[in-house]
Order: sequence, then structure tokens, then C-alpha cells
Amino acid sequence: MPRILIIGAGGQIGSELTYKLREVYGSDNVVASDIGYHNTEIINSGIFEIVDAQDYASVKVCIEKHKIDTVYLLAAMLSATGEKYPIKAWDLNMDSLFHVLNLAKEGFIKQVFWPSSIAAFGPTTPTTNTPQHTIMEPTTVYGITKQVGERWCEYYHKKYGVDVRSIRYPGIISWKTMPGGGTTDYAVEIYHKAIIDKHYESFLSENTELPMMFMEDAINATIQIMQAPADDVKIRSSYNLSAISFTPKDISEEIKKHIPEFQITYNPDFRQEIADSWPKSIDDSAARSDWNWSYSFDLEKMTTEMITQLRERYRDL
Ligand code: NAD
Repeated sequence: MPRILIIGAGGQIGSELTYKLREVYGSDNVVASDIGYHNTEIINSGIFEIVDAQDYASVKVCIEKHKIDTVYLLAAMLSATGEKYPIKAWDLNMDSLFHVLNLAKEGFIKQVFWPSSIAAFGPTTPTTNTPQHTIMEPTTVYGITKQVGERWCEYYHKKYGVDVRSIRYPGIISWKTMPGGGTTDYAVEIYHKAIIDKHYESFLSENTELPMMFMEDAINATIQIMQAPADDVKIRSSYNLSAISFTPKDISEEIKKHIPEFQITYNPDFRQEIADSWPKSIDDSAARSDWNWSYSFDLEKMTTEMITQLRERYRDL
């Protein structure tokens, strides 16, 4: 059994990953950690520690205390927030990665998961069916940290034999947790607003197509790449990963099948420019062939699940 530490476990992906890893490996083998106490459900659900990912000693103490051998590093500042605080985003996203890679290099841990993002691409990248290996000139500070992070992951693997594995997540959609300041957040907010207000004002224009994925698929991919035999994980920068691509208009049409009176309006803000610099769809054939990745939620299935679960949550409104 691996002994796992999740850093940033209070966030959108970290929290759901924590629950799933506890199911798979047992609660005693999975330590959740975050810099704050904001996610009480995670804190009350099993072992929890306060860890500051920017503080090497804080991460190391936790690793030694719990005899950790595997780290999932989910702490980061995301795209939209990163544009407001570029230097803080750079410092958090890079410091945290270096600390974990160095702890692996120094032999304190054996395996590392670190997510990259479709934000590692930029406006000069081919936008349709974006290849695994292509032009990458990101224009957001967040995208720069992901692109540079990928280079360092590959470097640490090649130079020091660090077993680091990574996926370029698309926008992740879930009903359990709210997103944390990204450009694809609209695709979660829209379901909540559809149920509560029957109206949503989108901060992206109606035909902005972006790659997205339901949380369950993203969590399965994360665990699948970590469980794959080391030789099968041939790409040590980060794997393209794809499920569905849609626009605000597409998702609103799908929601109307469940809530016919739902209305969407469009009022693009600064996030439109970020979205316009990202791919519309992704070629993930390397992940499919190297470690058998496939997704199971399309837009229709995901919308049915989101609306069913959120109706239940808001049923007393
Ligand atoms: P999030 O913002 O929801 O959660 C991040 C968590 O990290 C928060 O709980 C925060 O408190 C914690 N954190 C912040 N600073 C910390 C520090 N110094 N030490 C410890 N913890 C700290 O983010 P998320 O959406 O769950 O994303 C997780 C990872 O996945 C990130 O690397 C992100 O770039 C990547 N990703 C996410 C998406 C998405 O759609 N959510 C898409 C692509 C990539």
C-alpha cells in the first residue's frame, strides 16, 4: 500500500481525490493537507495536517511524520486569480513543485503526481485536436508556470530518476466542490445558477469552445496514471487528456432539456482573452495508448448527473 500525502486537499480537485484515494487505499494510508482550515468536510473525514506547500520544512516534516512515499501536489494558484497576482502565482506554483521534486530527488518520497493544464498552451498552438507535442507559448502567468513545471518534471525524471507523473487537465466540472478561480469555472457555476435562479450570465461569449471533463473521469485518470507500470508512462512532462469540448451555448442547450425555462446571457470579462488563448479540443492518443485512458462522461451524461445531484442539494430552496 502506498502512503499518500495530498497537498491542497481542501480544493476542488484535491478534496474529491482525497475521498477516492481513501476508498482505494484505506483512510489510514491517505493524509489530506492544506494551508488552511476552509474545507471542514475534508478535515473531519480522516487524517488532516496543515502544510504550507511553499515551505520545504513544512512539507518534509509531514512526510516524515506519516512515513509518506507518494505525494499528490494539488496546491496552486489558478488562471484567473493568477492574472491578478502574477508574482504570487509564480512563487506558489513553482516553489511547491520544486520542494516536492527535491524531496523525491533526495529519496524522501518515491512517487509524485503534479497536474499541468491546457493553460500550458497558448495562442500560437494549433487549437483543434491539439497534439501532444506542439508549439507552447502560454500568455498567462498560470500557463507559464505549467509549461515550465512540465519541463522541470521531465528534467528531474531524466537527470535524477524521479518518478513524477502528470496530466494536462482540461476544465474540471463537479457538483460536490466549487472551482477555485479558473477560466472554465463558468461550466460549474452555470448548473448552480440554472437550478437556483433559472438564469446565468456567462463571463465567456456564446461560441467559446474549451476542453472540459467531469470530475469522476479526472480522478480516475489521476489514479490510473499513478498505478500504471513505470515503463508505460513514457511521457514525463505531462500527458494531453481529453473528454468533451463545448461552448456556453452548447451547455445551456443541454441544461434546457432538464430546465426548459433556463435563460443564458453573455457578458464576457477579462477571462475571455484567457479562454481565447487556449485550445478548443485536445488529442489524447498518447494517454490512450500508453496507459489505456478513456473517459465515460459526455455532455449529456454529465449534465444529467449535475442537475440530479444539485436539485437534491437545493431541494429546500
Ligand atoms: P483549488 O484552487 O480549488 O485548490 C487549491 C488548494 O490549494 C486550495 O485548497 C488552497 O487552500 C490550497 N493551497 C493554496 N496555497 C497553498 C499552500 N501554500 N500550501 C498548501 N495548500 C495551498 O484548485 P483545483 O481546481 O483543485 O486545482 C488543483 C490542481 O489542478 C492545480 O495544480 C491546478 O492548476 C490543476 N488544474 C485544475 C483545473 C480545474 O479545472 N480545476 C484544470 C487544470 C489544472
